[in-house]
Amino acid sequence: MSVLAEFAAAVAARRIRVVDLTHTLDPQFPAIVLQAELGQAAPFRIEEISRYDERGSAWYWNNFTCSEHTGTHFDAPIHWISGRYLPNNATDSIPVEDLMGPACVIDCSAEAALDADFLLTKERLLAWEAEHGQIPARAWVLMRTDWSKKIVDAVAYQNFDEAGQHTPGPSVDAMQFLVFERQVLGFGTETIGTDAGQAFHLRPPHPAHDLLHGAGRYGLQCLNNLDQLPATGAYLVCPPLKIKQGSGSPLRVLAFVESAV
Ligand code: MN
Repeated sequence: MSVLAEFAAAVAARRIRVVDLTHTLDPQFPAIVLQAELGQAAPFRIEEISRYDERGSAWYWNNFTCSEHTGTHFDAPIHWISGRYLPNNATDSIPVEDLMGPACVIDCSAEAALDADFLLTKERLLAWEAEHGQIPARAWVLMRTDWSKKIVDAVAYQNFDEAGQHTPGPSVDAMQFLVFERQVLGFGTETIGTDAGQAFHLRPPHPAHDLLHGAGRYGLQCLNNLDQLPATGAYLVCPPLKIKQGSGSPLRVLAFVESAV
């Protein structure tokens, strides 16, 4: 049997499960909030065009508007100034082979439950590798925090206080390690950014954005259902919309997982 025929048969027989890592988009989905003087991302808005009525008797459809960075979404290298001049740095020019790959899931849910400002470090990644093997080149590394479960409460999901946002993310040495020593394709989180809420205090500030995009790599955020993935062995598919010169886009993120036999 050909590899693709074998794959199709395995999906049909549920020997390969398809896990949806996407949140549902609706107007209540929390939008990223920057300092008041800066430009702001628009939340998701939807408006009915017709619903089997006088505006269109046999069809239902909607108009929607949103920021490129709304809901479960993709960050392209052009999103950050470090990736500004790279070739193929936007959603319409990224090689499609980059929009998929094996997933390594780093379970930080216990640490994130104790500390909303938890930072994933290189040391923690090395400990993960000691257990699960080396992160392969061109992998997508996903930071599981179970933060996605807070989505039912937008205030808890955003987690702002007078000092700013408090959400977990990667440290500078973790991002240097993943980008330069492991050549990952991308890094994904369950929170509203690939960086921690307090990452503007780090040097460089926002290391996930700065280092990933400066090296032509990609980000995923607001991921869901990472608790349904094994540490290794899942295969991720994450193509953004093909927006001309797009800095990112909402997308559907799917993971293929082989069932235990
Ligand atoms: Mn983004």
